[in-house]
Amino acid sequence: MPKLLPRLILYTCVFAAFSQVKFPAAPPNVVILFADDLGYGDLGCQGSPVIRTPNLDRMAAEGLRFTDFYSAAEVCTPSRAALLTGRYPIRSGMCETPGARRVLFANSKGGLPQSEVTLARALKARGYATAHVGKWHLGIHEGGRPLDHGFDSSFGLPYSNDMDGRPGLPKGSSGSPNPPQDGWNVALMRDGKVVEQPADQTTLTRRYTEEAVKFITEKKGGPFFLYLAHTFPHVPMFASPQFKGRSRAGIYGDAVEELDWSTGQILDALRKEGLAGNTLVFFTSDNGPWLIMGSQGGSAGLLKDGKGSTWEGGMRVPGIAWMPGRVQPGVTSAVAHMMDLFPTALALAGVERPAGVTLDGVDLAPMLFAGRSLPERPFFYYRGDQIFACRLGEWKAHFKTQTGYGQPKAEAHERPLLFHLGLDPSEKRDMAATHPDVIARIQDAVRTHQAAMTPGAPQLQ
Ligand code: MG
Repeated sequence: MPKLLPRLILYTCVFAAFSQVKFPAAPPNVVILFADDLGYGDLGCQGSPVIRTPNLDRMAAEGLRFTDFYSAAEVCTPSRAALLTGRYPIRSGMCETPGARRVLFANSKGGLPQSEVTLARALKARGYATAHVGKWHLGIHEGGRPLDHGFDSSFGLPYSNDMDGRPGLPKGSSGSPNPPQDGWNVALMRDGKVVEQPADQTTLTRRYTEEAVKFITEKKGGPFFLYLAHTFPHVPMFASPQFKGRSRAGIYGDAVEELDWSTGQILDALRKEGLAGNTLVFFTSDNGPWLIMGSQGGSAGLLKDGKGSTWEGGMRVPGIAWMPGRVQPGVTSAVAHMMDLFPTALALAGVERPAGVTLDGVDLAPMLFAGRSLPERPFFYYRGDQIFACRLGEWKAHFKTQTGYGQPKAEAHERPLLFHLGLDPSEKRDMAATHPDVIARIQDAVRTHQAAMTPGAPQLQ
């Protein structure tokens, strides 16, 4: 009997936390819409004056838009590992380590280890139908592929769209006899088998969208989990004929406007099937804009630097939660990150957290559905397996800085740089000299985090 008491208290607390949140009997569906290299400033609702995103703007108006939402990494592979496991990528070994590469490449041997519990696997155990559509980039060998990690089906590219060149053609050339391919040779795969190579990238967004809508329609009886990881706006940039040449922002803008169309199609499908009120949709990006690509590189808006760096532009990304009638509409400046989506989805589904697994996020449900504030917690900006910076409240301390691309070595700061992200979101005015107490608090948080950290076996060699 004495053992029952704590459990009873726990259940009472859980019930109390959700008592204001009324869900239909069926567990909510979960849809994650994941852009690749989309900048903080590249949506209308994020202030872009040149890219039109009416569907995402409407999604933001009907849902909750985060101004301070973070990716867990500054490049593709570790970010995706973190999203699907709810853990900093260092824990799964899916990040750069000394002598390793920053992401998986076509000839990489590693992949997301089987010891990791993905969101798909956790939800599948609760009876969810699970689909991956789009870019994977977490491994191409046995054990690391989508179907090995809890997805019932998979349709998309095994990694980035720039990772295979066609023999005899320089990557990105326009000398191809088949112009849509332009020298790129990435394969389109279904359930682990190549169905088209080179993939016609001009129609990828459209075909991903059709696949996603088909899944929603077929699984409308629910519950389901859809992970739609778009190929764009990652370079090389393509858009379908309906979108090419229509944006003021060139082919980059065309590609983003097509993603916006795609989002509209998916939300419309949910509305049409009567699922909008019982489906949590979250839109975000894997990392910041790839600025060295010039006009094809997007914009981080007022944030500094972009993809590859731990300045804000590399890791602060758009974040929009949508579930009409459930998610309280508005804009929040609460600090949240993609690793929060794992515990949030599990809480909605009524799935227990995996035993013995350290998760790095918190359940956002009380905030999304009942307007509760989040606890103050540190956020660690990892570059590979190293912590370059840490945010606590409005303050961010940089221990090392390095631009995303083109600065060969990181600069270590014996006295960390310190920025107040409320007063100075562009990280221009170092306030370290007058706030040693803040730096000490942040350093404490880093020490505590590192003391409890067990890195996974490196996968990106
Ligand atoms: Mg990316």
